[in-house]
Amino acid sequence: MNVFRDSRAVAAGPPVGQALPSSSLRQRLSELRGPGVRPRSLDARALAALAANPGCRRRALLDGAGVDKGALAGALGSPTGYGQSQFAFVRGNAFEARVKADGGAELLRLVRERLDPGSPPPEPEGPGAVATPDLSAAGPEGRAARTALALREATAAGGWTLLDHPMLAVDVAGSPAYVEPDAVVVHPDGSWTVVEIKSFPVIDGSADAAKVGAAARQAAVYVLALEPVAAHAAAHTGRAVRVRDRVLLVCPKDFSNLPTAAPVDIRKQLATTRRQLARLTRVEEIAAALPEGTTFDLRLADDGKTPTRPAQELAAAVGAVGAAYAPECLAACELAFHCRKHARQEGAVEALGRGVRGELGGLRTIEEVLAAARPEGPGSDGPPGTPCEGPRAEAGPGDTAGSDAPTGPDDPTGPDAPTGPDDPTGPDAPAGPDDPAVLALRRAAALRAEALAAAAVPRTPADGPYVPRATAEGPAVPHPRAEEA
Ligand code: SF4
Repeated sequence: MNVFRDSRAVAAGPPVGQALPSSSLRQRLSELRGPGVRPRSLDARALAALAANPGCRRRALLDGAGVDKGALAGALGSPTGYGQSQFAFVRGNAFEARVKADGGAELLRLVRERLDPGSPPPEPEGPGAVATPDLSAAGPEGRAARTALALREATAAGGWTLLDHPMLAVDVAGSPAYVEPDAVVVHPDGSWTVVEIKSFPVIDGSADAAKVGAAARQAAVYVLALEPVAAHAAAHTGRAVRVRDRVLLVCPKDFSNLPTAAPVDIRKQLATTRRQLARLTRVEEIAAALPEGTTFDLRLADDGKTPTRPAQELAAAVGAVGAAYAPECLAACELAFHCRKHARQEGAVEALGRGVRGELGGLRTIEEVLAAARPEGPGSDGPPGTPCEGPRAEAGPGDTAGSDAPTGPDDPTGPDAPTGPDDPTGPDAPAGPDDPAVLALRRAAALRAEALAAAAVPRTPADGPYVPRATAEGPAVPHPRAEEA
């Protein structure tokens, strides 16, 4: 499950209408990485995350240019631990090798049993045995062409075929990326199934829903990449070729290393990913809008690891590209800590979550929100002791919008929600006094003031005298009970 993107991929052919010629774009992207720096390949998780935040020009450009975002975050002083652990990687490879052992006999048994029980079983040997074509070729483009040919031949042959780690091309932000699913199975009826092999367990028939969701999103990328190949194969073979929208998820059963499998319906993820990839801002347009001389070159020392470029310079280069930070970035992007820091410094409401941002309409900063909550209206300084003291002051007990918990792709506050200043659906108009968000904030502020006043009146003798936490005349005085706690 890898995604490859290299300079050859970028040069493979820019779509019509591109702002820069391919050679200029290739050169510009190379300048952005720095002289002699090889483009970074992406993994499937990163591609799914890229599709999950289509409003982020920063990520689209950095991924499009193949910049190592992890190293960049480290040089900026905000490293993250985002990524797959080495332990999980090794365990996953061992389990996958086991599932595909014996020419994929067990895997084909699972595919047939779970997805196509009416089809003839593959024979142990002879013409009816499972075909496992050799897909090796030079470079990702060569492997993708070899995969397309093998899929055509397998479809025409009409038997069972297992393609182990085929290479597929998918258009990402205007340039092709190469993705590599664990396996694709061609059925005797000419349909194709994507197989995802994961190392997380299925215990008592259930698996971690978040991990299953992530696997489904990755599988959706593979199915999207297969669709044009299927259309081509249908034209060549004269057979109806169908890429199944139910993929097979294979995981270890309970606490063993034995495989178990379940079909996963990915129609929803397919529609979401298709829409998100189509919305991704084109890399060439973002690159063309950058100030002259902008580069993300870390200027590594002779050891090839230590950045020598000042962090301020790098921060300025990164800041030249707009971002669309949301708490979901923490689980999906290496630059999350850097972007979060700046979003907080700017008081951007996006840092509180897409749900909150959507609720606040045209109010773009926490300062604007606090001003709007005051009775005098937006822009007023308000009297001393105004009820709002911070972004959390208005949050109710069930409010999780400010948390860092990621939302799913189908969450109404998820990727389709307004994501940033570049989002065409974003409410850019300034909020007036009649804005529903402003009215709701004032109502909430009034209710909170009422509740605080009511809570201060009925006190029992055991509570001792009421002591305000802070007064205009002096510093905050701790409540006796607070000291006990
Ligand atoms: S962390 Fe920053 S660069 Fe990464 S997706 Fe979020 S806003 Fe974009």
